[in-house]
Amino acid sequence: MAVLANKKSKPELFKELESENFRRITISFYRYVYVPDPQKLRDELYRFWDTLRCKGRIYIANEGINAQMSVPEHHWEDFKSHLYSIPEFKDVPFKTAVEEKKYSFLKLVVKVRKKIVADGIDDPDFKPWDTGQYLNAEEFNRMMELPDVVVVDMRNHYESEVGHFEGAILPDADTFREEIPKVAEMLKEHKDKPVLMYCTGGIRCEKASAYLKYKGFQKVYHLQGGIIQYAHEVKEKNLKSKFKGLNFVFDERMGERITDDVIARCHQCGKPCDRHVNCKNDACHLLFIQCDECAGKMNGCCSFKCKEISLLPVEEQRKLRKGPPKVGKEALAVHKSRLRPKPDMLFYKSPLKIEEQT
Ligand SMILES: [Zn+2]
Ligand SMILES: [Zn+2]
Repeated sequence: MAVLANKKSKPELFKELESENFRRITISFYRYVYVPDPQKLRDELYRFWDTLRCKGRIYIANEGINAQMSVPEHHWEDFKSHLYSIPEFKDVPFKTAVEEKKYSFLKLVVKVRKKIVADGIDDPDFKPWDTGQYLNAEEFNRMMELPDVVVVDMRNHYESEVGHFEGAILPDADTFREEIPKVAEMLKEHKDKPVLMYCTGGIRCEKASAYLKYKGFQKVYHLQGGIIQYAHEVKEKNLKSKFKGLNFVFDERMGERITDDVIARCHQCGKPCDRHVNCKNDACHLLFIQCDECAGKMNGCCSFKCKEISLLPVEEQRKLRKGPPKVGKEALAVHKSRLRPKPDMLFYKSPLKIEEQT
């Protein structure tokens, strides 16, 4: 069998990239579409893309494709016409990276997966490409005004905590996999009402809207291009933003400000604040909301235990992390598995929390 995988070492690949005298375009694309034979398609794509010297990470499943790639600029037209000649991927829209990074991908990895977005749904009759109806910003705003609509946030709790649409249902979920069945269950009384869903960039809602339809919901809509696209359109067309606060994003910025409203609170003192940070104790790294004042008091940590550890010399911290299991575990009595504040990190009793408990 032909070699259909990268066999070069990292330094080799790096050298190769370094000596390239052409530019690369960094793109991403995805599509939910039925792929009858993912392995066959995977081999075809790998073979062709390898000859074009494409790099990237691509997942193919029965439910479609999800690709992050870098394509040599001089091969762009070949790449595109080849991809578009495959019926399943005709006219698939590309997103180009704002910043071109030569080293964004060292090699070409094309993998066959069970799913392109992990969702935990095993039912073979579920068709992720049978999605709800798209709405643009203007349409979304207009539909929100209707009586009896249900607006639901399809993101995780820490994302909706710092920004969301007015009156939206905010499911308390840590992952998308957990959220999908939860939402179907929460909304089961509303199968005949219009359901408006949204997420960051639209990918999650494609699947989630298809799932609600599969579960018998009649009128399922989703925000095209997600909050990112909504924010653009609001600005361009001078619409009123019904989304308040920050749009949480998964990079160093942690959030894009959409409106000036600060709708979250510092997890430690309860003051209005919507700044996410990672706990400065590297062994913990908990994602939480912390105001400047508390950051100063706590040395950027989520708890007194983590503060103690973070104040040790670096060498010592490292030892703790690597140390004998018992010491390590105890000393780092940490919170890796959780994203929520636990009582020991709160200096105050949140009125929100008290309400939730009743
Ligand atoms: Zn605070
Ligand atoms: Zn911590």
